[in-house]
Amino acid sequence: ASPVDWARIRGDFPLLSRQVHGKPLVYLDSANTGQKPAVVIEAVDDFFRNHNANVSRAVHALGAEATEAYEGARTKLARFLNVRPNELVLCSGTTFAINLVAYSWALPRLKAGDVIVVTRMEHHANIVPWQLVAERTGATIKVAELDDNGDLDLDALHALLTPEVKLLALAHVSNVLGTVNPVREICKAARKRGITTVVDGSQAAPHRVVDIASIGCDFYAITGHKMAGPTGTGALWARREHLESMPPFLGGGEMIKEVCFEGTVYNDPPHKFEAGTPNIAGFIGLGAAVDYLSAVGMDHIEAREQALLAYATERMDQVQGLRIFGRAREKAAVVSFLIEGAHSHDLATLLDLEGVAIRSGQHCAHPLMQYFGVPATCRASFAFYNTFEEIDAFIAALDKVRRLLA
Ligand code: PMP
Repeated sequence: ASPVDWARIRGDFPLLSRQVHGKPLVYLDSANTGQKPAVVIEAVDDFFRNHNANVSRAVHALGAEATEAYEGARTKLARFLNVRPNELVLCSGTTFAINLVAYSWALPRLKAGDVIVVTRMEHHANIVPWQLVAERTGATIKVAELDDNGDLDLDALHALLTPEVKLLALAHVSNVLGTVNPVREICKAARKRGITTVVDGSQAAPHRVVDIASIGCDFYAITGHKMAGPTGTGALWARREHLESMPPFLGGGEMIKEVCFEGTVYNDPPHKFEAGTPNIAGFIGLGAAVDYLSAVGMDHIEAREQALLAYATERMDQVQGLRIFGRAREKAAVVSFLIEGAHSHDLATLLDLEGVAIRSGQHCAHPLMQYFGVPATCRASFAFYNTFEEIDAFIAALDKVRRLLA
């Protein structure tokens, strides 16, 4: 038996008790965005009710409280990821974080002849910024391919890491296949060859202990809304030497020490990369979220989600005509699938009428869809607040819908 009272944990999420189309909601779209526990909602509410002020500017009491709470959230997030707060740039999410690396680190350094390696399973947020860099610098992009299970072909990946490669960008966990990549080994191999590594941790940080220090990458990006925090929050972790050497990305207030028309002195990192008024309330909510996740325990969360994944996979395998995409050696609680003869959007629309929320589409991963030769897939993704009964309800709805569409 689990040491955690999961029914009580589920009760912490107000939204999960609502109904949709007259049916109890079964929310299986946490890889898209996660639901929020009451403590996160209350932290945001408390900030606006009792402490609202801008950060790093005013000397009045509210300004000091807001700054302390905002910087406190950075410290909490840093502890959660096992890094130093002054290496953590707070930003709007993974998309911003990776673009920051692309514009401030890669653009000034890369040139014609250089190579960027990405994997077939990347989210567009970890592809398109590199294409923009390639277009402007003349660098080229090479793709690390997968095997049929959705695991990276590691031999092929290692063979790609030639001296021309300057940068390797890869997901820690795939948002479509759930594949957990051996980022530690891969980053170690890259580092030996002098290749800078960018790890997209969007789908890892919500589901397992992420110890960035032990991964050995150069950059690690996370997004807050998938880890029980508010939308518009996220972070880029970078080695201090990179943050010191990178030029600012956006200019404005907060990122400077002194501005003169003769020349401006930038603030120290990470503030050098945080121009303008940040999403203060959002980060205070994210601080509450990582406190919440830590209190539940990331190990317990991972074990719970693995149990849900195993059960869902077993039940889905019994559904007639259902094909699962991705059976990686190590897999997070994400299941992409199709049912023979049914269009993915029709499936998702009919499941919604049964109260079951899944995602259908390309999941911001067109190259992966091209690899599998399908226009789109359905994706059910599970979080620790889901239940085995919800998986039963999902399977029952799937059976019903399948018969309607067949
Ligand atoms: N990478 C991966 C693997 C993701 O799953 C997502 C979110 N779907 C992103 C990047 C982008 O995150 P955001 O939109 O929050 O910046």
